[in-house]
Order: sequence, then C-alpha cells, then structure tokens
Amino acid sequence: MFAPPINRLITELARLPGIGQRTAQRLAFHILRVSDEEALALADAIREVKETVGQCEVCFNLATEATCRICQDERRDGHLICVVEEPSDVIPIERTNEFGGRYHVLGGALSPIDGVDPEDLHIAELLERASSNGVTEVVVATNATTTGEATALYIADMLREKAPDVAVTRLASGLPVGADLEYADEITLGKAFQGRRRL
Ligand SMILES: [Zn+2]
Repeated sequence: MFAPPINRLITELARLPGIGQRTAQRLAFHILRVSDEEALALADAIREVKETVGQCEVCFNLATEATCRICQDERRDGHLICVVEEPSDVIPIERTNEFGGRYHVLGGALSPIDGVDPEDLHIAELLERASSNGVTEVVVATNATTTGEATALYIADMLREKAPDVAVTRLASGLPVGADLEYADEITLGKAFQGRRRL
C-alpha cells in the first residue's frame, strides 16, 4: 500500500509493545511530517542506548559502565539484596524510598513451558553473591504472577541450601495478584516492603 521504506518503518514500529498496526501507521506519518532533525534525534537516541547501555557486572541492572550507579553508591547497604525480574522493576522500588540495599536482576522468571530454566537466569550469580559478601537478607521481589511466585520459591530453596545464614523474605501481599511490579503504585509497593515475610 505504501512505498517500501514506509512499510518498513510501520513494520518496525508495530513490533513495539502496545503499538498496533493503526498506531504504527500514525507514528510513521508523524515521523514523515516532522523535520529531519527531529526524526533523526529519535533514531540517534535508539542507536545511543543500544551502543552505550549494557549490564552491570555485579547485579545485571542497566549500566553505562562496568557497574551500575546503585552498585557504585557506597551509601547503599551491601547486607541487603533485593531480587527482581527485570531492570524496569528497580525503578518502582526506588520510588518507594523503602529500600536502601542493593539489587539483583534475574533477567526474567522461571517458566519451563517457555523454556526458561534456572540456568537461563542470573540465579547462580545471586547464590554466589548471597553466600560470599556478608549478606544477611535477600528480599525476593519477583512479580506476583505464577512464574514470579515459582521463581521466588525456587530461589528460597536454593538459598536455604547454599546460604543457610541468609534470611529470605518476600514482599507482603497487597500487591495486585497477577500483576507486574512495574505497574504497582509506590504506596502499595512501599507497604509490601515494610510487611515482607520470611519465605
Ligand atoms: Zn549493579
């Protein structure tokens, strides 16, 4: 229907989460309408994040250096590690101001049906961190979904075995069941932190 370059742009935009075919078309026409400068700023921003943002070698959060800002911050409590599924989960927890420890990003949740096994996540690195650095508590803040809960239980079992002195806690209920952490408001999430319980 459109010239090949326009079709290509629409196809790429439609791959983005929450963007359907119609929205992709509308965005493509918006990009065609704006100045070269404005449109290419978007292309450059995408190129720049892909070229400069990587993973923290300690916690696997997003980082523009070898380690992320949280791992570099001396004021953060190294005895406390909060385990999350994705880097995007760190932001809502930071917004609650309830957590002053460090993070560990798993890179997803266990889901045997989708072929996600323990070795596909950063679980071995978590066990290593938890058993070697004077860590006293691991807060498991995976999502309140079936896969998130299964991951929490698996991690608790493994920690009991490999780092028996470390307390393993889970965020309190009150989080919307079946929902991603990303969408919880900071009051609910803050309360869930205060009421965390042993796993
Ligand atoms: Zn880090």
